[in-house]
Amino acid sequence: KAWVSIMYGCNNFCSYCIVPYVRGRERSRRPEEILEEVKGLIAAGYKDITLLGQNVNSYGKDLGLGVDFADLMASIAELPGEFWLRFMTSHPKDASKKLFDTIARYPKIAKQFHLPFQSGNDRVLKAMNRHYDSAQYLELVHYGRARMPDLVLTSDVIVGFPGETEEEFEDTIKLIEHVRYDALFTFIFSPRGGTPAAKMEDPTPKEEKNRRFDRLCEVQNRISLEIHQNYIGKTMLVLVDGKDGDQLTARTEGGRLVRMYGDDALIGQFVHAKITGCTTWSLVGELAE
Ligand code: SF4
Repeated sequence: KAWVSIMYGCNNFCSYCIVPYVRGRERSRRPEEILEEVKGLIAAGYKDITLLGQNVNSYGKDLGLGVDFADLMASIAELPGEFWLRFMTSHPKDASKKLFDTIARYPKIAKQFHLPFQSGNDRVLKAMNRHYDSAQYLELVHYGRARMPDLVLTSDVIVGFPGETEEEFEDTIKLIEHVRYDALFTFIFSPRGGTPAAKMEDPTPKEEKNRRFDRLCEVQNRISLEIHQNYIGKTMLVLVDGKDGDQLTARTEGGRLVRMYGDDALIGQFVHAKITGCTTWSLVGELAE
């Protein structure tokens, strides 16, 4: 597996985040330089390549070359070789339908999208300075799913943002129930000195935030388990990426963890696995070849 930084910094100033202050404004690397680096990785045998940036969707805006993130992905996905291409992270306000179309078009681009929503409530999203509302976010999700019914969707969510009411928290739960993410990265709001959110009134007691966090995890864990149960019986291509105890670990195209028995020599190879069981967090499989 390899990770390639395609840009640095961030222009977004989400009200809870310190990144733009410490990493500066967005700077994109030139596409030909990235392409050369990726070609070298493919030649060296890397099979799972992730393009990295705080907000990859605004890649190229500062270069003025007429090359956007979808164009960059397409040019990498056209390279010869056996690999999966992924990316992290996307800001929903800059995620374009063109990007979803590009993911759908190229078999080498993994059908996985990490699209942080942070809150399901529009007042909270505004206070977070996220520049989208829940309807715009859902429109993107619906578009992506219409183009790719098997798209694996993951996201980030913050519980207990300053001033979040019980009702506003319930909007987040509703969004999660509606979208049914494969997995969520969940955080309880924690103030970062020097950000606007750190100065906002925050009357909600910690115990209440913990309760909301637990409820959210319960909902997501149920959904993750239900989604994982649907994998059982399917045979899918996985990339064996290591060992845990006496079992091999592998990843599906959507990035789901699969545990199975097999020879160590398979590490680093694509194989087919039949999914025979699951937990909330991983799948259990057996070699299908
Ligand atoms: Fe930028 Fe992400 Fe931080 Fe927002 S949360 S300011 S998009 S790095």
